[in-house]
Parts: sequence; C-alpha cells; structure tokens
Amino acid sequence: MPDKLSTSIQYLKSVGPKRAESFAKIGLGTIRDLLFYFPSRYLDRSTILNSAKVVQHVVNGFTGEVTIIGKVIDSEVHYYNRRQIFKVRMKDTAGYFECVWFHGAKYFKNVFKNGDHFAISSKPVLTKYGNLQFVHPDFDRFAENESTEFLHTGKIIPFYRVPKELRETNLGDLSLRRIIHNVVESFSDDLNETLPDHIITENNLLDIRRSVQNLHFPNDFDSLKSAMYRMKYEELFYFEILVALRKNLFKNKKKEFSFKAKAKPLKEFLNSLPFQLTRAQLKVLTEIRKDLESDKPMNRLLQGDVGSGKTIVALISMLIVVENGHQAVLMAPTEILAVQHLKRIVELVKPLGVKVDLLIGGQKKSERIRILNDIREGKIKIIIGTHALIEDNVEFNKLGLVVIDEQHRFGVLQRSTLVKKGLQPDVLVMTATPIPRTLTMTVFGDLDISIIDEIPLNRKPVKTILRGERKLPNIYKFIRDKSKEGYQTFLVYPLVEESEKLELKAAEKYFEELQSCYLSDLRLGLIHGRIGWQEKENIMSEFAEKKYDVLVSTTVIEVGIDIPDANIIVINDAFRFGLSQLHQLRGRVGRSDKQAYCILITKDELAAKTNQINFNFDYLSPALIEKNKSIIRLNSMIKYNSGFDLSEIDLKLRGTGDIFGTMQSGLPEFKFANILEDVSILSDARNSAFKIIHEDPKLYQEKNLLIKNVLKKNYSSHIHLSQIA
Ligand code: ADP
Ligand code: MG
Repeated sequence: MPDKLSTSIQYLKSVGPKRAESFAKIGLGTIRDLLFYFPSRYLDRSTILNSAKVVQHVVNGFTGEVTIIGKVIDSEVHYYNRRQIFKVRMKDTAGYFECVWFHGAKYFKNVFKNGDHFAISSKPVLTKYGNLQFVHPDFDRFAENESTEFLHTGKIIPFYRVPKELRETNLGDLSLRRIIHNVVESFSDDLNETLPDHIITENNLLDIRRSVQNLHFPNDFDSLKSAMYRMKYEELFYFEILVALRKNLFKNKKKEFSFKAKAKPLKEFLNSLPFQLTRAQLKVLTEIRKDLESDKPMNRLLQGDVGSGKTIVALISMLIVVENGHQAVLMAPTEILAVQHLKRIVELVKPLGVKVDLLIGGQKKSERIRILNDIREGKIKIIIGTHALIEDNVEFNKLGLVVIDEQHRFGVLQRSTLVKKGLQPDVLVMTATPIPRTLTMTVFGDLDISIIDEIPLNRKPVKTILRGERKLPNIYKFIRDKSKEGYQTFLVYPLVEESEKLELKAAEKYFEELQSCYLSDLRLGLIHGRIGWQEKENIMSEFAEKKYDVLVSTTVIEVGIDIPDANIIVINDAFRFGLSQLHQLRGRVGRSDKQAYCILITKDELAAKTNQINFNFDYLSPALIEKNKSIIRLNSMIKYNSGFDLSEIDLKLRGTGDIFGTMQSGLPEFKFANILEDVSILSDARNSAFKIIHEDPKLYQEKNLLIKNVLKKNYSSHIHLSQIA
C-alpha cells in the first residue's frame, strides 16, 4: 500500500508546485512533514480582555501585559520632530483603542489593513486624551471567522512561524494555518503509532494521532499539555533505548587483556610526585584500577572541577596500562593543551624511561611519518594528541587505554572512532563541566561515573571582585605591584568584531595601548585566535618560563591551561561571557598556594548595580531572572567558587548561549523535551527503556517489534544496526 503521508504537498489545495518548492526549501516536502510542523506559539482565550476591562485595569494601577482582540478601523502615518509615527485605530466589542510604532511605518502600513482582525499583546497605557494605547505591541492576525469562533468557543489558536521562503511565495500566516488545518483534518488519522502499546498504556500517554491533532488545534491547554508530554516522552524514550543498547554492547564485551597495577612501582611513582594525592584523587584511582583489572572494558566518566587534578589520575592510569605492555592515548581538545600535557607528562615519567610523544595537526610531514611509524611499531607508549589521532592512517600497536580530556568538546562519534582503533580498549573520559549527578546518570547513562569532589588542600579560594572600567588604572597598578612579588597576570579580552581581521586589529591595538602606556614597565605577551598553534605554544611556554609578566589574550586560554605562577586574571567586558566560561577562565588561576585574584570588569554602571545587589534565588520570579541575567551571573561569580554551585545557578538562568547549557556540555538537544527541565519524564522513560533492553536486548519479542522498526527508520545513524537486526 503506498504511503499517503509520503506524498508531496504540491497536490494539496492552495499549495501547488510553486509553493511546494518554497516549502521544500525549509525541509517540508511531504504531508507527513507538514503534520510535524508544529506551532511556535498559542493564543489562549482565557487571557484575553476587552478594551473596557483593560481601561479599568490601567486606572486601577495595573502595569502588566494584556492581550486584546480587535478589528482595524483605520491607520495613519504622521510626523513628529521629523520622525515617522504609525498609528492604527482598532475596535473591539467594548470600545476603541490604538497601537503606535515609532519606526517602520511603511512596513506596518502593509500589515494592518482596514477590516483585518488582530490579537494585540503589550502593556496598555492611557494617553493624555484618555485613549487606550499600545506602544510597539506584539500582534497576530486572524481570519474574521477565526476571531468570532475563537471568541465564542474559546478554542486555542496556534501560530506558525512563516519563514521568509514561504512569505516570498505570498504565503502568509493565515493561509499557512488554513493549509495545516486541512492537512490535520484529512491526514492525521493515517499516522502510524510510534510507541508500543504497552508503553502507551503503562504511562497513560496519548496516541500519536491525538497528540498531533492536539498540538496543532488543541481544545484547551490540558489537551495541549498531554500532547506535549507524549512527544517529550517519545523522544526521551528512544534516546534512552539507544543509551541502554550502548551500555549493553559494552557489558557483553570482553577485553583480551586486563591491567593490574604492580604495587611497588606505583608507590614509588606516587612518592616521586611533588605533592600528595588528595583523598578524592585516591578514591577515583581505586575505581579506575578496578576497571583496569576487570575483564570487561572500562567506560568511565571522570568528573572534577577545574584544578581538581584530573590529569595526574589519567597519567597514573596510563602508566598502569603501559607497564602491562600496552599503549595508552590521551586526546585533548586543543593543540596547545596537548602540548602542555606532553611537557608535564614527559617531565613526570622521565625517571621511568617511558616513551611519550605527540601527534597533532600542524606537524611537519617527515616528523609525522616517523611518529605514525613509532606508534604502529609500539615504540611510543603514551601518545598525546588532538583529534588528529582519529584520522584513518593512525594505527596503534596495542592500544589498551583511551583517555579523553574535556570530553564536552568531542562528540560521541569521535570518541568511538578512537576507541575502535584498539581491541576493546578501556576508556576514560574527563570533564570539568559540573552537571548535576542525576542528570549525568541519565544522559551519560552508558558510562560509569567517578567524581573528584575535592580541590588540593594547599589552595586558597580565588578572590573574585567586580570593578567598573573607571577603575582600570588602579587595576593596572595592582598588576604592576603584584608582578614585583612574582605574580603573573592573564588579561582577557573578549573579541566581538565581526571579522577575524578586525579581531586581530582590535587585539593588537589593545596590546599596544597597554604596552605603550598603562603597563609600559612590564613584559607583555599577546596571544589570539589568529596565530598558529606553534606560535601560540611558544608564547605560552615563554609565559610559563616567566618571560612575560602579563599575557594579553583572547579566550584561547579558556580550557585546561595550567600555569601555577599566573595568579591574577582580569576579564574585560565580563558580562559577555557565560557563567561556565567565566568559571573556566577563573580556573586558570589559583593553582598554587598563593592568593589568586579574578577581576571582572564591566561598564561602570553595571558594576555599580551588580555590587549593590545581592540576589537570593528563592525569591526571584522568572521575569526578574530574565531581565537580570548579566547581573546574576556576575554576582554569582563573586559569591561562589565551586563549579557545582555555579552550574545550579546556570540551570536556573539557562538561556541562549550559556555554556553549561545543552550545547557546550555535550547534552543532547530535542525538539520537544528539554533535558534540564523534563528530568522526571526522562527518568520514567529511562526506566522503561532499560527494562525493555534488559529483558529483550535484541528486541526479538513481538511486543517490541515496533521499537525495532522505529529505530531502523528514524535512528539508524545512531546505532550499529547489527545490534538489533
Ligand atoms: P584539572 O582537573 O583542571 O585538569 P590539573 O590536572 O591540570 O587540573 O591540575 C591542576 C594543577 O594541580 C596542576 O598543576 C597539578 O600538578 C596540580 N595538582 C594535581 N593534584 C594535586 C594535589 N593532590 N596536590 C597539589 N597539587 C596538585
Ligand atoms: Mg584539565
């Protein structure tokens, strides 16, 4: 039977071949695609007031937003102080009101046609003539029958995004809504269920047809909510099925070798270190050693705040593997970090005579050939590198352990490419991204977790202060004074120029200003994104060798860099950074027993405001949070030193671009579900998914057949199908 839903939308009424082309440009080709093109917003009648009510509210001192529906009577453009003002007069059942815009008159004149119906949302005001007015309101257009039906039946009206590709073929909000309405009416009953019956019943979920219908044209908010719930559940369910399958895959594998630490050399090595391992480091090391000894491959996440000392734990694990005649590899997210690891590790293992080498992108060809050869022949025991390690021509001799540093920078795919280069090697991934434990369990559910929850004892917490730009001269003086005591300083400067060229110019200009004026008696280095790794590395080493007092830098120092004498970091325009980025940057200092300082700089006004306010999250409304994000971020940096505390605040602030947010932490993104908000659905879905895979790992059973088919159809890129075929 041909699949009705796979037919092209060009045969639909009011679409046709030409419009179908523009739909195709935004990925909507078939009827099924259109069924799954959901509204971006909904308008609810219960929030609508009539104009008389609104006036009453304003008179009573109400200052919030309202929504009101009316019909356009007329509109006019007039001039005030040579500025164009556009005014629309409208009417609803109870009276008149007006909307004004102080720009874009030409555009709005085309939007607000006499006789059209609109929903207007904004703060109402009363003019000095007593007219009800909305300034720059949000607006949505209705067809006339929609507006009467809406007002009488109280249905919820959906609003669809109309991308410019559609607008170009004269397709507006109303026609799109009509087209989708027809599609839902005629075709939603042809949708096939994508969740097994037993899951639907057990969890009391809506079926797929009702869910799709309700998402488009819900009768009330409850049915909309149930539809949302089902869609979220489905996404998270399949996500957890994949996690469970992956975990299962590992569980059934056997290593050909296991690695047992010899007590004496280990002890000697620990004694040779310039410090004692913390209790937390010892604890995670025990966990890792158990895995290394076991005959099942290790698949472990090592979580620890910046500066908690993950590298040494990784090194000891690598040495155990090397001692057992195998190779170990450490993959870092940047070349500069790989080089830093190399130097550290070479230094530490010198007495042991273990051969360590580097494989990164920018190496000379002859050098590269030699290294690849030595890796293949097993001469190099510990290989440190970047993603250059996952290239095809890298072959290992006997790869026993893969360590991945700052794992959020790498995708799962890169991880598994590297892992496949060994015969079931052990895997340790390290991250400083402090996501709450429950979430880690659910999302990285195929990994075991070790946490370093302690910072080395000798550390004093970094002192964090916020100053306005006006204070910069004092801060430069502070840097000069402190440099006499041997302190080094990072001066971070976010580059916001559009082009790289301009960025470079800005960085150089800033550098010269400092060198010729404020910090003329100090030795300054400059590092930025436009220079190659070799030069970056040279500058970093020179900084580490104390050839500079101050390193002026863009955010390339962000991850992992470890220079113990650098104890001051000044972050310009600090409000531009996300919370985790700020925390990562601050983590560059405070790595010795000296008092370290993190100085955040912003515009004077913002600094003054932030320093006055002391937020308590329990009393903040979402609206207040939304309005004060920068202040809250800066404030929290001053108040908290631990990444875990900050990550919790970040969860509350979570919004575009914040770094603990989904993208940067490597958390997956969904269309409906939000992994941070829908934790309880996630955990339900996880329980069901794990139970199913536990009972029926290959999905042979009749009742799970559907799952297998959906996986094959929709998730084939995520799994080795052989697992369930
Ligand atoms: P991160 O966990 O952020 O990767 P690193 O491994 O770079 O941290 O360690 C930060 C610094 O702390 C390094 O200079 C390292 O030598 C030092 N360090 C590690 N463990 C200890 C310890 N137990 N006591 C004192 N210093 C330590
Ligand atoms: Mg590190």
